[in-house]
Amino acid sequence: MNQIRTRSTGKSSDFYGHCEICGKYASDIHTMSVRCSYTRRDGTAGHYMAGTWFGHKDCLDQQARLQNPCNEEAKADAMVDRLDFGDAA
Ligand SMILES: [Zn+2]
Repeated sequence: MNQIRTRSTGKSSDFYGHCEICGKYASDIHTMSVRCSYTRRDGTAGHYMAGTWFGHKDCLDQQARLQNPCNEEAKADAMVDRLDFGDAA
């Protein structure tokens, strides 16, 4: 199951820079991290981190709804990172 975790950083764009989604100033920057699940070739479940975004809470929520961060392209990138241990077991 995919997991999307959003939380407030408690800091504004003065600290983190503008919202990554809309590019505007935010008085309360939130961070969203997305963990995706996939099925390995042997049928077992695996996870990978799709990424972390900073911005308005509303922008992040919208981003998660409109774009599937767990798309095939993201998985392909993540798979490269885990090649050294993914099939070793
Ligand atoms: Zn925004």
